[in-house]
Amino acid sequence: MKALDATQLYFNRAADHLELPASSRRLLVTAKREVQVQIPVEMDDGRLETYLGYRVQHNDSRGPMKGGLRYHPEVDLNEVRALAALMTWKTAVVNLPYGGAKGGIAIDPSVLSPGEIERITRKFVDEIHDFVGPNNDIPAPDMGTDSQVMAWYMNQYQKYHGFNPACVTGKPVEMYGAPGREEATGRGVGILCLKLLGRLGRKPPQTRVVIQGFGNVGSHTAWFLNKAECSVVAVSDKFGGYYRPEGLDVPAMVRYANNNRGTLQGYKDAQPITNEQLMELDCEVLIPAAIGGAITEHNVKKIKAPIIIEGANNPTYPEADDVLTAEGRTVLPDILANAGGVTVSYFEWAQNRQYYQWTLNRVRQELDVVLSQAFEAVWEMAQQRQTSLRTAAYILGIGRVSRAAALAGIM
Ligand code: GLU
Repeated sequence: MKALDATQLYFNRAADHLELPASSRRLLVTAKREVQVQIPVEMDDGRLETYLGYRVQHNDSRGPMKGGLRYHPEVDLNEVRALAALMTWKTAVVNLPYGGAKGGIAIDPSVLSPGEIERITRKFVDEIHDFVGPNNDIPAPDMGTDSQVMAWYMNQYQKYHGFNPACVTGKPVEMYGAPGREEATGRGVGILCLKLLGRLGRKPPQTRVVIQGFGNVGSHTAWFLNKAECSVVAVSDKFGGYYRPEGLDVPAMVRYANNNRGTLQGYKDAQPITNEQLMELDCEVLIPAAIGGAITEHNVKKIKAPIIIEGANNPTYPEADDVLTAEGRTVLPDILANAGGVTVSYFEWAQNRQYYQWTLNRVRQELDVVLSQAFEAVWEMAQQRQTSLRTAAYILGIGRVSRAAALAGIM
């Protein structure tokens, strides 16, 4: 099962609950616009390389379309389509005045120089600048991109359209970015994890947490939950995992990764394990915070955690999700769990339009308010409809988008 099939299946389950007619379903699963562009670039050694870039604008019924820009070798049109639709439901679940979009370029940034990544980014903006913009479609960081890439994006966009920092979010703080945007996705995962633990009657000190991924999302989640007195017992990056049953020294690991080009490779104060073993560890909370498709029918039976929090987008495929639900485990779905990032993107965009910068404290407080409201709404929907939290989140998101589309006279 591919990412796109998975999101469509989740969509249909919620659409059944909402009794949406086939015509509305067709409208809501179809993207408003999809583009593939050619990106010819001169590499550092003088060679000409041609890459493919994508932007899928899924739905704008609730506002300008919003979603990240992913640089990863496996990016293709179908994956970007699935991720764009997820953004539409995600912004609706947290009730931001946005629609959903996603973009990507099929490159491996870890083998490219900063100059090459800059030229690829600028070339991509050259190709798409006419149909994106602050009132229309606003990119942000995702896997393989960061605030530097967003700064190049903004600079290139402004060459065509004039000064307008609201054209992209996740920018450096010195360049119209919002303090707290970088930590926001991981912090949001942590905030929601604590809310869920509270609802399930569990206490942080008695909670062992395992996190797959130690990039932007995984490392900030680990940091937040460690501070909240959870016991973070294992984390991993693409090179492997690190396990310490009595709890990892998370601040030391964050420092280590910061000084080691973002990886934990060579970290000594923990037991080395494989990524596969990590998923099967005895723990209370498992947080996939890396790639999609981390929990499938092949490994779901070996997963022991009663609580799963989806830091990544699309980490659980439906066959596995069905097993988890049937066994009574609690899955906090991606469209709620990792919505902290886009929420602070919204704060950044709103500040850019006022030329005003909030303090870090204000960003953190307002993030807490938005995510708490969304969590309560999803929890209540799940009680009311007797569904999983995933189906409840989709019902809430799809319901809001279809009401907006109907009010606008689109459907
Ligand atoms: N890429 C992030 C996501 O998947 C953030 C998107 C945004 O800030 O627009 O939610």
